[in-house]
Amino acid sequence: KSVVAIVGRPNVGKSTIFNRLVGERISIVEDTPGVTRDRIYAEAEWLTTRFNVIDTGGIELGDEPLLVQMREQANVAIDEADVIIFMVNGRDGITGADEEVAKILYKSNKPVVLAVNKVDNPEMRENIYEFYSLGFGEPFPISGTHGLGLGDLLDEAVKHFPEKVQEEIDDETIRFSLIGRPNVGKSSLVNSLLGQERVIVSNVAGTTRDAIDTPFTKDGRDYVIIDTAGMRKRGKVYENTERYSIMRALKAIERSDVVLTLIDAETGIQEQDKKIAGYAHEAGKAVIIVVNKWDTMEIKENTMKEFEDKVRSNFRFLDYAPIVYLSAKTKKRTHTLIPRVVEASENHAKRVQTNILNEVIMDALAMNPAPSIKGQPLKIFYAAQVSVKPPTFVVFVNEPELMHFTYERFLENRIREAFGFEGTPIKIYARKRK
Ligand code: GDP
Repeated sequence: KSVVAIVGRPNVGKSTIFNRLVGERISIVEDTPGVTRDRIYAEAEWLTTRFNVIDTGGIELGDEPLLVQMREQANVAIDEADVIIFMVNGRDGITGADEEVAKILYKSNKPVVLAVNKVDNPEMRENIYEFYSLGFGEPFPISGTHGLGLGDLLDEAVKHFPEKVQEEIDDETIRFSLIGRPNVGKSSLVNSLLGQERVIVSNVAGTTRDAIDTPFTKDGRDYVIIDTAGMRKRGKVYENTERYSIMRALKAIERSDVVLTLIDAETGIQEQDKKIAGYAHEAGKAVIIVVNKWDTMEIKENTMKEFEDKVRSNFRFLDYAPIVYLSAKTKKRTHTLIPRVVEASENHAKRVQTNILNEVIMDALAMNPAPSIKGQPLKIFYAAQVSVKPPTFVVFVNEPELMHFTYERFLENRIREAFGFEGTPIKIYARKRK
């Protein structure tokens, strides 16, 4: 998917526009405990094109001076985006800070679309002409508060999207990524899976470091590791911000079939672990929980069981994810990981037969009829699997509102028992039968 970044000095209205662009889409995500929504990177849609939007204004850099902040935010946009929306304020005219941002953007080779915000009525349109002098061509007047002008702005932005690159890797290839807090051992595990110490690619100016994808073959199967750890850019301020690493993780997750979410056994589970794992879950990817640094644990009879209980109670939303305990350092049990990746990936792409699915649903119904809501019984007519990655089912009913989430959960469990979907989330939607 193409990426659009919104840049500009503070208070020109970047977040308002961001919220307008992604608005509904971000709030439809299911309510998962332990998951906080990050509103800096989200999916948006214009006509038939889906893309991701970054609100660089959301990248906070603590006590850094304003100028440093703006520079780093512009750099994020230049690194990450296919198209940059440079936003200024039509009521203020061109300020020194706008010129600073413009200077950084000149040096990038990225297409820039200039948006003049706070043009709330047609009379104000004459204010936009002075912005031609910024040197980014035609200024597009918009109003974040009134939602005006966004269509024209997006038409222009979409024009600059790169042509879809042909996916070079065939469908048989399993793509997976490793995510987790800094120092949980992502790089170490990548190295140990690849069986060699890999050198982290240097930061040669002008090279794209969008992702470091490493293909490898094992037992006749092709894999690609999408490496977030290797993508660190040393020496830049934003590199160390939590939000920036989340953005990195989100990009890697999006391109993966299977996501390995790492936990450090030595430090134990932390809030940030849940948040990061939540992103993989929300993206509908297959997930494996990897407990690394198991070598540091003093193993008693119940150590693994106790750790597992902790993981399960902290990651309830990942109840489908297998847990693998290993040590990237000593390589103990690292060989058990790839078979789980294969299994999760196959389940993620699994299609079940419609007739068997319906037998399973009807058996479930007979065993445990759906409870009535306000005296009205739920009737289930039939079910079908409508898509994969993740497996998604539609259950046709008399009235979708009568499908209580506990009953949906019950059906999910029956489907899981019947078909085996370990490692992958599955989605069930109730639809009214027409
Ligand atoms: P990343 O930031 O997630 O990529 O983490 P690194 O792979 O750079 O590892 C962070 C630190 O943890 C390094 O000092 C590693 O040597 C150490 N480490 C990684 N895996 C293990 C492990 O399985 N056991 C132990 N004891 N240390 C580990």
